[in-house]
Amino acid sequence: MPEFLPYGRQAIDAADIAAVEEVLRSDWLTTGPQVEAFEDAVAAYTQAEHAVAVANGTAALHAAVHAAGLGPGDEVIVPPMTFAATANAVLYEDAVPVFADVDPDTLLLDPDAVERKLTDDTAAILTVDYAGQPSDYKGLSEIAEDHDLTVIADGCHALGATDRGRPVGSMADLTVFSFHPVKHITTAEGGMVTTDDPDLADALARFRDHGRTTDHPGKPDWYYKIVELGRNLRLSDVACALGTSQLDKLPGWLKARRDLAGTYRRRLRPIGGIEPLAVRSDVDHAYHLFVIRIDGETTGVHRDEIHDELQERSIGTNVHYIPVHLHPYYRETLDTGLGDCPVAEAAYDEILSIPLFPQMSPDDLDRVVDALDEIVHV
Ligand SMILES: *Cc1c(COP(=O)(O)O)cnc(C)c1O
Repeated sequence: MPEFLPYGRQAIDAADIAAVEEVLRSDWLTTGPQVEAFEDAVAAYTQAEHAVAVANGTAALHAAVHAAGLGPGDEVIVPPMTFAATANAVLYEDAVPVFADVDPDTLLLDPDAVERKLTDDTAAILTVDYAGQPSDYKGLSEIAEDHDLTVIADGCHALGATDRGRPVGSMADLTVFSFHPVKHITTAEGGMVTTDDPDLADALARFRDHGRTTDHPGKPDWYYKIVELGRNLRLSDVACALGTSQLDKLPGWLKARRDLAGTYRRRLRPIGGIEPLAVRSDVDHAYHLFVIRIDGETTGVHRDEIHDELQERSIGTNVHYIPVHLHPYYRETLDTGLGDCPVAEAAYDEILSIPLFPQMSPDDLDRVVDALDEIVHV
């Protein structure tokens, strides 16, 4: 049996370990110089004015929703083709997620579907850069401008992606990243919010630290005020040192992901009934995931069977995602269900994320393509 090939995998090298060790030997384990250094590095990389580090991507979403001032009575438009954390974060602040359907070719939030979901209560659009491809920022921003909405981007898949040369992180009012091991760079657990707005950056930093303000001229150094109900969503110096070290490697890793994706596209073309998702023009895709769509009628094999057959050949795949509005909690609390987002629902039956990570070898990729070819042509 060949070695198991996962659909994604992190990479930690000696420089990462040395960076972490140095922090462990220092005076600061948390909220020290490494936090600011990592924030500055991510802000520079994404061309955002500010970056605020938090405990994980979900915390980053929560902090973004809070900083945007969203709350009871506010509707926030979200795509269903995402991890549940995206919509959960809206509910944490007692606002209401409203699911709008995705584009059939890219599975990105469809601006026309957003228009159809607008009401007097719509306060924000929370888009997802699914699989690592930038959302239609231009289309969504136009709607946001016309209706005075905040745009929040869940960029957890898309660190390093660009749209017309502009990096994800600089195109929405607030953009959220995750540094979970399966994402482009990792801090084990970790997250970040980027923004150009200094007031939003202050609000994020306050919420991360118990709703506390510490800048009070004329007061003693121990003085602080709790000005709102915040949380402890801080990220440690240990984690941030790992993050800064990982970020050094991101350009090389992005290139490797894009090269592998190009090879997949070329090699999969002759296999009928298996189609990679489309890429919008003018974008540089970050390829967190490589998602194929399997047309069961053409291949004669359903996605579930292909998943099982690959598993038997020691090839890991995954389904991203079960549309959020179909989960029992959402059905029960928001009365969502089948038929709300038909494009996402149809895609859910056909999508499969096949292995993609920078350290994957050409032989690994051959194994995946050959296996797919074999399974489809029985
Ligand atoms: C990973 C991910 C999250 C959550 O990030 P965590 O760091 O695991 O909390 C949210 N949204 C999307 C789209 C993700 O991929």
